[in-house]
Amino acid sequence: TLKGKVALVTGSTSGIGLGIARALAAQGATIALNGLGEPVAIEKIRSELAAEFGVSVSFVGGDLTRTEAVEAMIRSVEQAHGSLDILVNNAGMQHVSPIEDFPPEKYDLIVALNLSATFHAIRLAVPGMKTRGWGRIINIASAHALVASPFKSAYVATKHAVLGLTKTVALEVAECGITVNAICPGYVLTPLVEKQIPDTAKARGMTEEQVIRDVLLAAQATKKFVEVDELGALAVFLCSDGARSMTGTALPVDGAWTAH
Ligand code: NAD
Repeated sequence: TLKGKVALVTGSTSGIGLGIARALAAQGATIALNGLGEPVAIEKIRSELAAEFGVSVSFVGGDLTRTEAVEAMIRSVEQAHGSLDILVNNAGMQHVSPIEDFPPEKYDLIVALNLSATFHAIRLAVPGMKTRGWGRIINIASAHALVASPFKSAYVATKHAVLGLTKTVALEVAECGITVNAICPGYVLTPLVEKQIPDTAKARGMTEEQVIRDVLLAAQATKKFVEVDELGALAVFLCSDGARSMTGTALPVDGAWTAH
């Protein structure tokens, strides 16, 4: 059980982040949600999560491509709940384009969100975790932290970088009761993936059906999308006492994609 622990999941108004927030709430953790979206839709997610699992759930917004927003988010969670014990860096974005056409401003945003926000959130959460002698940091990287695909230069670069960050911080906090790990999902059918299907079809001159079969699921040997509850289950395990020596790792959940 995670009763008494406070978990912040960035980008938890949708997709994988919401799935992980649900799994941690089911274990009794207090949840701080973050992400973009319509206030009414976010309040619905917040109140339903609290009611379903009988836990305290707050929401702290902010565009995490801005360092000040990351700082305000961490401060706000620690003030609202008294601590921050589990940090899940999940917010991320993708852009699909050949490198010579890649919009520089998209590159900057992807670096800011996928990499820098993770760096800053960890930087600010570690002192409290050290004081309490317990912490769990889970970075949602990707199979694209281990292997590449064409037309995703910014994304693949940042996800590889997140692994470097994961390993480095794991070494720094290893004696403090804090573990730092990266989960590397294969394809999960979330809005992030749905949005890239038309662009990938265009970049490769394929139909959308061909993109799903011959690109997205080509290497995923299970021929199935990974589902968010599988990532929630792994996050719960990483937060458990049984995972206390598991740190500095990259854990693929990818239907054997990276086994090729
Ligand atoms: P999603 O688009 O469904 O959700 C992304 C979340 O991040 C949303 O809550 C969104 O509001 C939030 N977000 C986006 N920009 C933000 C910003 N500037 N500031 C704060 N929050 C912001 O995507 P997803 O598929 O659930 O992806 C979640 C994470 O999982 C990402 O880091 C992604 O790279 C990673 N991932 C996804 C897949 C996949 O197949 N879906 C595979 C591997 C890794």
